[in-house]
Amino acid sequence: MPADGLLRAAFIKLSTNGWARAAATKFPPSVRAARRFIAGESLAEALSAVRTLNQERKKATLDYLGENVASPDEAAHYTQISVGILEAIAREKLDCNISVKLTGMGLDLGEELALSNLRRVLSAARELDNFVRIDMEGSAYTKRTIDLFEKARREFSNIGIVIQAYLYRSAADIEHLAALGYAVRLCKGAYKEPPEIAFPGKRDVDANYKKLADVLLAPPALARGTRPAVATHDPAMIAHAKALVRARNIPLEAFEFQMLYGIRRDLQKQLIDEGYTLRIYVPFGEAWYPYFMRRLAERPANVGFILKNLWKESSTS
Ligand SMILES: Cc1cc2nc3c(=O)[nH]c(=O)nc-3n(C[C@H](O)[C@H](O)[C@H](O)COP(=O)(O)OP(=O)(O)OC[C@H]3O[C@@H](n4cnc5c(N)ncnc54)[C@H](O)[C@@H]3O)c2cc1C
Repeated sequence: MPADGLLRAAFIKLSTNGWARAAATKFPPSVRAARRFIAGESLAEALSAVRTLNQERKKATLDYLGENVASPDEAAHYTQISVGILEAIAREKLDCNISVKLTGMGLDLGEELALSNLRRVLSAARELDNFVRIDMEGSAYTKRTIDLFEKARREFSNIGIVIQAYLYRSAADIEHLAALGYAVRLCKGAYKEPPEIAFPGKRDVDANYKKLADVLLAPPALARGTRPAVATHDPAMIAHAKALVRARNIPLEAFEFQMLYGIRRDLQKQLIDEGYTLRIYVPFGEAWYPYFMRRLAERPANVGFILKNLWKESSTS
C-alpha cells in the first residue's frame, strides 16, 4: 500500500479509538488544529460562522457533531439539538439547512428509534420550511440509511440523502433515487472500505464520481426535482460538472456545489464569483474528534500543516 494509503487507513482507525479520542480532545494543540475544520463547540459560534458565510453569498448546512450514540437518551439529546438548530436558523433568518447522521439518532440501537427521532426533526423542519440532509456513514449503514431515508421520504419531501462514489453499489442507488426524483448529495466517500465493496484507487473513484454526476445532472432527473448537490473540492470533478451544465444548458439554480468548512476557500470564492450556488457544510459541537480524523485521513498533508503550526507555537511560547 502506498504511504498515503497507510496514513489514511491509520487515521480512519484512530477515528474510532476511544483512548486516542480521550487524549486528543484534552490536548490543546489538537483542539486548536481541529478548529480549522469546525466552526466551534457552541451553537452560538456555529451561527456566527454561518452568518459570515451568508454575507459571502454562501449557503450553509449545519452539522451537530455526534455519531454512534450509545443510549436512547443520547439519541434524544442529538434529536433535540437538531430541532433547536432549526429553530435558531429560523429565528436568525439564515440561509442554512441541517445535515444529520442516523447513528446520532440511535441507528445502532434500532431502526424504529432512529426513524422516530428523524420524524421529529423532519416535522420541525417542515413547520419551519427547512430541509434535512441525511449524511452517509460507513458501509455497515448504507443499506439501512437508504431504506430509512426512503421510508421518511414517503412522508416528508424536505429530506435528502448522500451517495458515495467509492462504493460499487452507488451506480444502482443513484439510478434508483434519481428515477424517483429524490434529492442526492454526491461525494467521494470518507470512510475506509474494503476492495470487495469499494474502488480502492483514486482514479476509479474519480471516474465513478463523474459517471454518477452525469446521471444526477441529466435533464430528466433534474425535471423530477432532484436538485443535486455536487460535493467535492476536486477541481477535476468541479470542471466536469461545469462542462455538463454548459453542454446540457442546465440552469445554475437547478443544482448546487457543496464544500466543507475551512477547505479550499480559494475554490469556494471562485465558484461564487462565477455565479454558481455554493453551500458550505459547517460542523460544530464537542464531539469533533472522528470528523477531524477523517479530514486528516483525506489529506495527510494536513498533518504536516498541523505539525508546522505546533512547531511555530512551541518556538514562540
Ligand atoms: C459538503 C460535503 C458533504 C460531505 N458529506 C459526506 C457524507 O455524508 N459521507 C461521506 O462519506 N463523506 C462526505 N463528504 C466527504 C467526501 O466524501 C470526501 O471525503 C471529501 O470531500 C474529500 O473528497 P474530494 O471530493 O474533495 O476529493 P479529493 O480527491 O479527496 O480531494 C481533492 C482536493 O481537495 C482538497 N481537499 C480534500 N480534502 C481535504 C482536506 N481534508 N483538507 C484539505 N484539503 C482537502 C485538496 O486540495 C485535494 O487535492 C462530504 C464532503 C462535502 C464537501
